[in-house]
Amino acid sequence: MEKGSCDIGLIGLAVMGQNLVLNMNDHGYKVAVFNRTTSKVDEFINDEAKGTQVVGTHSPEELCAALKLPRRVMIMVKAGDVVDKTIDSLLPYLEKGDIVIDGGNSLYTDSDRRTKELAEKGILFVGSGVSGGEEGARFGPSIMPGGNPEAWPHVKEIFQAISAKVEDGTPCCDWVGEGGAGHYVKMVHNGIEYGDMQLIGEAYQLLKDGLGLSADEFEAVFSEWNKGELDSFLIEISTTIFGKKDEDGSPLVDKILDTAGQKGTGKWTAISALDLGQPVTLIGESVFARCLSALKDERVKASKVLEGPTAKLSIADKAEFIEQVRRALYCSKMISYAQGYMLLRAAEKEMGWKLNMGGVALMWRGGCIIRSVFLGDIKKAYDKDPNLENLLFDSFFSSALNKYQASWRKALIAAIEAGVPTPAFSTALAFYDGYRTARLPANLLQAQRDFFGAHTYERIDKPRGEFFHTNWTGRG
Ligand code: NAP
Repeated sequence: MEKGSCDIGLIGLAVMGQNLVLNMNDHGYKVAVFNRTTSKVDEFINDEAKGTQVVGTHSPEELCAALKLPRRVMIMVKAGDVVDKTIDSLLPYLEKGDIVIDGGNSLYTDSDRRTKELAEKGILFVGSGVSGGEEGARFGPSIMPGGNPEAWPHVKEIFQAISAKVEDGTPCCDWVGEGGAGHYVKMVHNGIEYGDMQLIGEAYQLLKDGLGLSADEFEAVFSEWNKGELDSFLIEISTTIFGKKDEDGSPLVDKILDTAGQKGTGKWTAISALDLGQPVTLIGESVFARCLSALKDERVKASKVLEGPTAKLSIADKAEFIEQVRRALYCSKMISYAQGYMLLRAAEKEMGWKLNMGGVALMWRGGCIIRSVFLGDIKKAYDKDPNLENLLFDSFFSSALNKYQASWRKALIAAIEAGVPTPAFSTALAFYDGYRTARLPANLLQAQRDFFGAHTYERIDKPRGEFFHTNWTGRG
């Protein structure tokens, strides 16, 4: 191998790394690869990458020697300390102006720290969210890069070449912002993904337990839903899932154990929302719903002890109810995205980033797990008004919610009557009603706080910022 001949290096040949390398190779980039377990380098070169111009290396030193200047090294390893260790292993072989990219699911605070630490050494760091799983990595992921802005001109071309494109060819990749901004946006993406999946799950359970729909009927219903407002990757793959049969010919989905796993990005989103005081209730409920699902043995025990209505509903017009559930799903989804964007707004303010909200919608529009037609509507809303205070004030969203909210309520009343759990649908409606309520009961809460803790309160008949305390009992 000729030294200094490769366009980019990639460390970490697990599923994401391998597919990104092949994607870069398809776009004409010569990639040098390295992996801690070096036998995987040889296996990859002799198998998946056979016949490509990918170059295998067996040490960080060899990898760095293979790269053109300034060196660009992308790290795709397990998030956490491993990323720091991998960066440390590269440092002796890097020079000022070289670029290190972390494309794993790193916590944004780590990316913030790495940007600063590497800048002190003259190395340009990029912390980039990459979404779309194996398929996305191979044929076009959504890429959300942040970090040191001086690095962007060096990675822009390659990132935009390998990323997904929307219908008009615009890449689903643009500079997000400084420090941890890229990984923050990816984290919120993952949180929204938790929410979307939970909402689909609730629609499924309500129609399965309430109406008794079979997997075959779900395949037909979801296929219809995917032609309209809910057109999205997750509805599309759910349609395929419902159609998949096990070896005995029965639907495979019915045989899968109902305990959900999680890797932590939904939890991080909820924690950040709490830290920033933002009511991102739907993602929070979605994380808790996964936690509840994991208590399988306790749930089975409780199902024999705790009473409730039997789930079957007596509904004359099945099609009408299915439409109510579809509308409940759509309205809840609008709330979830509005909450996600509220969090982005708050984070941008707190961290001093300048996020392009329409650009974020565009990056999520293709390539990633939450890709959908709906993200195009969000993009349009921010194109109309880049400073939109809340998505729910955009006429597209407010008119859809006004039109569908009655159906949303009917679906939820049915769920409550049938005893079918719908935490995400419910919290979305509670948020909607709370957000549109000019006077909430926080007046009583403030009185209580003042009663027991002399926390003071403001009055509606006095200017804001003037605080009062009352001796509620009259005792001295
Ligand atoms: P992964 O299972 O998260 O990580 C495996 C890679 O990390 C292997 O290359 C492994 O090397 C390396 N590694 C693990 N521990 C190490 C250590 N102590 N020292 C050095 N290397 C170590 O791989 P992945 O699923 O491809 O994901 C890569 C990154 O992308 C992760 O941050 C992940 O969260 C993120 N991501 C994944 C997906 C997905 O769909 N899988 C989607 C988006 C983002 P060895 O072969 O030597 O063990």
